Amino acid sequence: MTALPTTWRATILTLFPDMFPGPLGVSLAGKALASGLWALEARDIRDSATDRHRSVDDTPAGGGPGMVLRADVLAAAIDAADTGQDRPRLLMSPRGRPLTQSRVTELAAGPGPLIVCGRFEGIDERVIAARGLEEVSIGDYVLSGGEIAAMVLVDACVRLLPGVMGKQASGTEESFSEGLLEYPQYTRPQEFEGRLIPEILVSGDHAKVAAWRQAEAEALTRARRPDLWAIKARQKRPKSPTDG
Ligand code: SAM
Repeated sequence: MTALPTTWRATILTLFPDMFPGPLGVSLAGKALASGLWALEARDIRDSATDRHRSVDDTPAGGGPGMVLRADVLAAAIDAADTGQDRPRLLMSPRGRPLTQSRVTELAAGPGPLIVCGRFEGIDERVIAARGLEEVSIGDYVLSGGEIAAMVLVDACVRLLPGVMGKQASGTEESFSEGLLEYPQYTRPQEFEGRLIPEILVSGDHAKVAAWRQAEAEALTRARRPDLWAIKARQKRPKSPTDG
């Protein structure tokens, strides 16, 4: 008997479950959520607090400003949310590995992650190792909490799930899909404030259009993202015997 595919599910552990679905409840992701193409569960970390004040945080060991999410409360919240499936456990964190389209593609191909959203000064370091959390950053800046970062990650995954994007809008020709930024896009009118759509795009010659788009994508990537361009150039280079 073949196993039925399970719905991709994002489980969010947060102190602010009311923030969800938020922007994930509208447009592409929202329609897909309503039609059951994916599932979202926002769980309140505070439900795992054990004292009568439902405390989730405490002062940092060693002193310093702010508060830290307690290891025992957070671990209990993770354990309570765990369904026993082998799901990636992520922690949104500015210290994490920067999120990339290739990691998003991997996450979209799996069962869906459990995502811990930090607040305050962050979380007690011991939970990261004890519960095998993978730290993920959405950029080199500091947000006030992990919820918006989690929404970014979930949105990026959901649009890649089967049936979410229409056939026309497949993810295969987008920025980062081939390690390049996307070529410029145009639509009607043919002339806008004296600026014309590049001649080649209205020529009807599909091979020339494809070549123009490839050249534009490469030029944009080289100019704006030398880091990506260097990776691309390395991949194109024939392997030398000194390469690892
Ligand atoms: N004290 C922490 C530091 O300096 O690394 C920052 C804590 S931040 C105010 C609170 C929470 O927001 C973090 O625990 C994390 O969950 C989330 N967060 C902030 N910036 C983020 C980023 N760039 N990417 C992912 N999550 C972020």
